[in-house]
Amino acid sequence: MKLKTTLKTFFLLAFTGLLLAQIVPDIDGYKTLKCDFHMHTIFSDGLVWPTIRVDEAINEGLDAIALTDHLEYLPHKKYVSTDMNASFEIAKKRANFKKLICIRGAEFTRWMPPGHFNALFIQDANKLLINDFLPAIEEAISQGAFIFWNHPGWIVHQPDKVVRWYDVHQTMVDRGWLHGIEFANYHEHYNAVLEYTNKYDLAVLGNSDIHGMAHEVFLKDHAHRTLTLVFAENKTEKAVKEALFAKRSIALSDDDILAGPKELVDKFIHACIQIKGYTLTNLSEIPFSLENNTGETYVLEPLGSLTMPNEDEWNIKNVWINKNEHLKLLLGH
Ligand code: ZN
Repeated sequence: MKLKTTLKTFFLLAFTGLLLAQIVPDIDGYKTLKCDFHMHTIFSDGLVWPTIRVDEAINEGLDAIALTDHLEYLPHKKYVSTDMNASFEIAKKRANFKKLICIRGAEFTRWMPPGHFNALFIQDANKLLINDFLPAIEEAISQGAFIFWNHPGWIVHQPDKVVRWYDVHQTMVDRGWLHGIEFANYHEHYNAVLEYTNKYDLAVLGNSDIHGMAHEVFLKDHAHRTLTLVFAENKTEKAVKEALFAKRSIALSDDDILAGPKELVDKFIHACIQIKGYTLTNLSEIPFSLENNTGETYVLEPLGSLTMPNEDEWNIKNVWINKNEHLKLLLGH
């Protein structure tokens, strides 16, 4: 691997590595919001009190979070309330005070198939405690929920980590009850998800699924947690909801792998990378790895700049628009 790093970008990287609020550009008149729609507290199998999730999010420069405690898995129930709205209600007060968007959510926790699903923007999590899966989803839908499939290739559900599309997933799509899928979850990502999000026009998400402390789980080794970037009209819950249902989101894993629908990802990348002939300037804190047809690789560092060889077509190796397809960056014009 050929790596061009100037002293200047090295120091910028060293410096920005300490900053948790990642710089990401806005696009198309939309604000780019940093969101995490999947996390746990002591009210299911998480290890922290709900207000800690708010404080972590504020410290990391996030704009929106959803608390999504498991509905069917409550290992601490001997010691804490089993009211499935409790974590949201505790966190919401602090989030309002800190000006963080905090969305009421819950996680349906079933064996595969169907697997795990999050419902966001619900009204009452307790009403989702229904044994049969599809009637439980139907109740969430009646509450106005945005529903996404969590970690479809999780090793506990799929020992070979292969993402499989079952009849129940098709039923959900056919009924309009599935709105998105996690491409990235925790420290993993699943490329095969893009085949389905492209085919059925579903939102692409990336979420932390954090159970412990953010500092231990993500920030010790990464500049940020796994995130969903949402392109919203403004920083309100209503605008986040509108943007998710309109599929204006892309996933960003903790190791800076980015994925989403081609047109949206292309716009975002062109807002991140300024191109002047063969000179690139990265206006974001996301690094980009560029590879030509002969396999030569150059890394455009966060906030760095780079003069490339005079070749027009490059694959951005850490940016995916389909199962086996990187976004291409065209230079020289
Ligand atoms: Zn979870």
